[in-house]
Amino acid sequence: MPAGARGARSRRRPSPVVLLLGVAVLVAAAVGAGYLVRTAGSSDAAAPVATSTSPSSSAAPSPAPSPTVPPPPPPPLAGRTVVLDPGHNRDNGQHPAQIGRQVDAGGFTKQCNTTGTATNSGVAEATVNWELALALRQRLEAAGARVVLTRDADAGWGPCIDERAAVANREGADLLLSLHADGSAASAHGFHVIAPGMLPGWTDDIAAESQRAAVAVRDALVAGGLTPATYLGSAGLDERTDLGTLNRSDVPAVMLEAGNLRHAGDAALLTSGEGQARVADALSAAVTQFLSRSR
Ligand SMILES: [Zn+2]
Repeated sequence: MPAGARGARSRRRPSPVVLLLGVAVLVAAAVGAGYLVRTAGSSDAAAPVATSTSPSSSAAPSPAPSPTVPPPPPPPLAGRTVVLDPGHNRDNGQHPAQIGRQVDAGGFTKQCNTTGTATNSGVAEATVNWELALALRQRLEAAGARVVLTRDADAGWGPCIDERAAVANREGADLLLSLHADGSAASAHGFHVIAPGMLPGWTDDIAAESQRAAVAVRDALVAGGLTPATYLGSAGLDERTDLGTLNRSDVPAVMLEAGNLRHAGDAALLTSGEGQARVADALSAAVTQFLSRSR
């Protein structure tokens, strides 16, 4: 309705103050309405953003969420190289000249190798070491590791102690694990793990990590129910600077004496498939734990 018509019906003209107030109210109402419209508009504008994907996805479906399960994580030892060193060799005793040759054992000379010990019933330590290495290799490969052995059969002689370390160095191994079993008094019992002691210029670069690996091996064997040696070392750990295989290694290296082959219980454990599997399970867990932490 025109304002003039409304004014014509009034008996009295509205005062300027009333007109001003009226205008102010109208302006305020218009501004308020505009604000509300904009507010509604802006919230309406937001809503289509959320809902617009529905029509478009129904019109041109984007790839549906994949029903396949995510790819499995890589195996724990993927990309890792472990060198296993089955100590001695079965026929070392038949090659005295070859294994008697002097080699550099870390700033001093030592003979190439020895015959190793044996059980009272005549099972050679070299064979026990070999069988344990095969059982462990199988487990480490199943965990994704590349495994290299320092000898390829339980026959013949050698390699020398320096060459065993050289294999690990050449292969860029993440760990060198030398497998042995001891020959001590019949009452002596249990395993021990030898880490290289500090030999400046030879082992200072690997001593700390080797010590960490030795502890991992010791802990896993204890968890597997094996007994730390009762006759030497301390709580299953020992440290030596006279072992060429450890001294010549440029990668973390430990040597396991898995038990005393002159002890009836240790010999029974280490010459049975069940016992070897038990030791190999523990060693596999130790290697996995050590290499997972150092990744
Ligand atoms: Zn040995």
